[in-house]
Amino acid sequence: MAKKKTKKTGKKGKNWRKFWKLGVEDFNTQFFGVSKDGELTIAEGHHAYNFADLAKKYGTPLQVVFPFIIEYRLKDLIGYFNAYMKIYGYKGKFFYHYPMKVNQNKEFILPLLSEGANLEVTSSNELWIVKKLWEGEKFHSKIRVLCNGPKTDVYLDLIEELRAKGMAIIPIIEGPEEIERLLKYKGDIGLRVDLDIKADTHWDKKFDRFGLSEKEALSLSRMKNLKIVHYHMGSQIKTQKSILDGLKRGFTIYTELQKTHPSIDTLDIGGGFGIPYEKKKFYTAKSVSSKIVKLLKNMADKAGVRHPNLIVEWGQYIVAPSQVTIYKTISEKPIPKANAKAWYIVDGSFMNDLKDTWAIHQKWHVIPATNMASKKMKRVWFAGSTCDSDDKYTEGGNYILMPEIPEGDNELVAILDTGAYQDALSSRHCLLSPPLKIVAQDGVVKIVRKRESPDTIGKIFGWNGDHK
Ligand SMILES: *Cc1c(COP(=O)(O)O)cnc(C)c1O
Repeated sequence: MAKKKTKKTGKKGKNWRKFWKLGVEDFNTQFFGVSKDGELTIAEGHHAYNFADLAKKYGTPLQVVFPFIIEYRLKDLIGYFNAYMKIYGYKGKFFYHYPMKVNQNKEFILPLLSEGANLEVTSSNELWIVKKLWEGEKFHSKIRVLCNGPKTDVYLDLIEELRAKGMAIIPIIEGPEEIERLLKYKGDIGLRVDLDIKADTHWDKKFDRFGLSEKEALSLSRMKNLKIVHYHMGSQIKTQKSILDGLKRGFTIYTELQKTHPSIDTLDIGGGFGIPYEKKKFYTAKSVSSKIVKLLKNMADKAGVRHPNLIVEWGQYIVAPSQVTIYKTISEKPIPKANAKAWYIVDGSFMNDLKDTWAIHQKWHVIPATNMASKKMKRVWFAGSTCDSDDKYTEGGNYILMPEIPEGDNELVAILDTGAYQDALSSRHCLLSPPLKIVAQDGVVKIVRKRESPDTIGKIFGWNGDHK
C-alpha cells in the first residue's frame, strides 16, 4: 500500500476523519474531527471539544447539546428560502415555524427564537411554555404561533387568552368538530388538510387521522378569517420527489379553497425534511428549497393567483444534528452465529434514551469516540443496560464496526444526530437514570440536567423518602 500522507491523516497513513464519515457537510458532520490520539472532537469556531474529556469529566451516559449547530442550521435555511425567493422573483413571504414537539428543551428553544424562528405547538402544555416565554419577553412581539393537535377546552381557552393579549396565535383546524368552536375566533385561522397522496415515509397513509380530508375541506362553508392551508405528510421523508409531490397536491387544494375563501394567503407545507442518519447520499435543503420556491412560483403564475406566503415546519432537520449521545461499554459477549461477532453492552439504554431505535427501528451513525484510529476492528451489535432483550442496536441486523476492546478496558461510543424527538419520548425502564445533559457553547460547558439519583427516580414512582 502506498504511504500517502495528506494534511489530515498524520503519520498513520489513513484519513480517519473520512473513514468515520466525519467532516462532510452533506452528512451534517462538518464540525466533527478525530484528534491525534484517536478521539472524537467537534469544533465551534475556534473552540474545540473532545468527547472523551467530556465523558471523563461528566460521566456517562451523556448527552451533549451544541446550540451553535441549531443556530447555524436555521440561519442557513432561512437564508436559502429568502435568497431563492429573491432570485426567482417570488412575491410571497417566508416564515419558519419550529415544531416544538421535536425538542422542547430550553437549550433548543432559546437559540431558535434568537435566530428568528416562529413556533408551532401541539398541546396546551407546550403552549403554556410559550405563554411563559411571552410574559418573560423572551421573544420579539411579532412572533407567530401556530396551534396544531386536538383542541381540548383548556387548550382553546389558552389560545383565546393569548390572542386577547395581542399574540399572533393561529389555531389550525384539525377536525370537523373544531370548525364550529372556532367560528367565533376573532384572529386568523388555518386548516389542516390530509392530502390524498402517499408520501415516502415510515408512516402509513392508511392510518393518518390528522386534518380534514380533501373532500371535507373543499365542502367547507365560508370562514372569513381562514388564512392558512396546512398539510404535514410525516417525518423523515425519504425522497425529494415526495416533498415536491406534496407541494403540488397541497397547492391544488390551496387554490381550490381560495375560490371560496379569498382570505387565504398562506401555504404551510409542514415538516418532514429528512436527516442523512445513515451517512449515505441524501437530498439537501439548499437544493430542495430552490425547487420548492421555483415550483410554487410557476404553479401560482400558471393558476393566476398571488404567490402564497410560505410556511415551513422542518423540525428534525434543524435540531437532530445538534446533539450527540455518549455511552461507555461495560462488558462484551460473543455472538456465535450472526453478522456481528460480539455484543458491546453499554451503560445507557437504547430503549430508554433513544426510543426510536426500538419504536421505528431508527438507524443512527454510531461511531467510537475513543480509539478511532485502532488497527483492530470488530463487527459488533450494541445492547443497553436494561434487562430487556429489545434494548439493542444492531444496524438492522447488519453490524457496526468498532475498535476491539482490550481486556479490562472500555470504549466510548458516540451516537450522532440524537437531538430530535428522543428526549420527550424517553423513559426509565428498569429505573435507569436518563443521560446527564450538558450544553457546550462558546467554549463553556454547563450541566443542564443532572443525573437522577435513586431517590429522585423513586419519587416519580411514589417513594417519597420513607419507603413505607
Ligand atoms: C411533527 C410535526 C412537524 C415536524 O416534523 P419533522 O419531521 O420533525 O420535520 C411539523 N409540523 C407538524 C404539524 C407536525 O406534526
